[in-house]
Amino acid sequence: MERKAFGIDLGTTNSAIALYENEEVSILKNMEGFDITPSVIFFTGVTPSGDDDMLVGEYAKNAAATNPDNVVQFIKRRMGQSGPQFNHIGPSGKEYTPEMLSAFILRKIAQDAEQFVGAGEVKDVVITVPAYFDDARRTATKQAGAIAGLNVLAVINEPTAAAIAFGLDKGADSRVLVYDLGGGTFDVTIMDIKGNHFDTLATGGDHALGGFNFDGKMSELIQQKLVEQGIELDDEDDALFAEIREKAEKAKLQLSSVQSTRPVFTINGKTCRIEITREEFETATADLMQRTKILLEEVMADKNISWAEIDELLVVGGSTRMPMVKRMLEELSGKSITYKIDPDTAVAQGAAIFASTFDLNAAEGAPKNDARAGGEADWVTNKITISDVTSQSLGVITLDYDTRREQNTIIIPHNSKIPTTRSVEVYTVDDNQTRLRVRVTEGDETDVEFVKVIGSSTLSIPPYPKGSPVEIIYAYDPDQTVFIEVIDKVTNQSLGTFQVDRASNLTADQVARATGVVGRANVE
Ligand code: AMP
Repeated sequence: MERKAFGIDLGTTNSAIALYENEEVSILKNMEGFDITPSVIFFTGVTPSGDDDMLVGEYAKNAAATNPDNVVQFIKRRMGQSGPQFNHIGPSGKEYTPEMLSAFILRKIAQDAEQFVGAGEVKDVVITVPAYFDDARRTATKQAGAIAGLNVLAVINEPTAAAIAFGLDKGADSRVLVYDLGGGTFDVTIMDIKGNHFDTLATGGDHALGGFNFDGKMSELIQQKLVEQGIELDDEDDALFAEIREKAEKAKLQLSSVQSTRPVFTINGKTCRIEITREEFETATADLMQRTKILLEEVMADKNISWAEIDELLVVGGSTRMPMVKRMLEELSGKSITYKIDPDTAVAQGAAIFASTFDLNAAEGAPKNDARAGGEADWVTNKITISDVTSQSLGVITLDYDTRREQNTIIIPHNSKIPTTRSVEVYTVDDNQTRLRVRVTEGDETDVEFVKVIGSSTLSIPPYPKGSPVEIIYAYDPDQTVFIEVIDKVTNQSLGTFQVDRASNLTADQVARATGVVGRANVE
């Protein structure tokens, strides 16, 4: 049977799967008949064999209001993090990590594409991630795919996928800015497209900013209006607050096409109808729009790029349907925005096109066309090459020579092209110092309080006088994995190498066990 590769947008609020065949990309509908599947899981009970039974998608989303304790959503925000607070315990007592929860969503969309659309076996996939996902989150995404029984060919950035979907590989060379405001994340990326080479120049964003926050503001507006009508809201009434939240999103969607909306609530047997205008909603959310503007301008300033140098402005993500997004971007850029491709599915479409460029039918074991180029490019297939930048700055904690205060010294600044190798020279701080602790950090600040230590290693060093030079080398590979080497500059000998092994990622054993557990659960 001919193998096909699919593209999957595993989103914070919605997910989608697409296939590129015969020079056409199609979004594969789910069993409910929709192009997109809410990334929501509703644990409905336990099967006779003691496994969990769950619904994923539209029904799960609808159950959030009435059954919040058994509904899990916004899982993408927890990816790459570990600890019981990020897990969910199902009715069977089984505990699910964010990778396993994401695997349920992947299983649902793969299953529907196979069984409902008859798209063939969904095994080989490209999954998209926000450009600013660090390696821990990328690894967690790949592991979610593996746990769902998928073969993840590549994890590529959402804005790159969007640009591919817009067919920008076919036109003239261009510089593109992608403004992606989804349900839970905001992402802004600047890319150069030359022929079929996609070169990311800079990326930024906020993974806690999206439609969800606009829903929150709308909920506040609704509550304010209800209170103005003399209604007392009981803080303990979870069902009412879940209903307000659900109706808040509906009201928000309506205000994208009409000027005012009138949601109705029944509280303590009394029917309450309120009115919310688009203007009120826009005023209430002006700070959120402003935040996206600041982040966008930061990315442009980071690379010293002006609007005059941007050829195309692409908008993706469901939240870009809000009229104020278009208005703000057109005012800022002086360019007009067209919605050539459905903002909800652009990312999945691009992922599918990219997936189709892998030669899956090459003999098993033979290298596919996904060989990573050792030099300039990141992902290389026979049709498209992608090169990315680092989304986070990587540094090392050093002691100030005079004050002995700890400080963060950046070695690879964010938005550096990958693969890359950079180094710093540091100096021993004590006479006859025999140990050197290297703590690898992620973050832009000099103050160690504001950066995250992502790995560390203590190396032995020959006893030298204080102030002897040591070189710390960081190499970032296309997978966004970091390798560290420390060189004794007195002898020019290597003192050792290590790799940042993210404690937050699952081990191979844990992935294998999770695959079994997820495979046994009943997902519909
Ligand atoms: P995405 O993550 O790209 O699927 O985007 C989902 C987000 O887009 C959710 O927060 C939706 O409420 C929001 N969204 C979808 N359609 C609209 C619309 N017409 N107006 C405003 N927000 C929308």
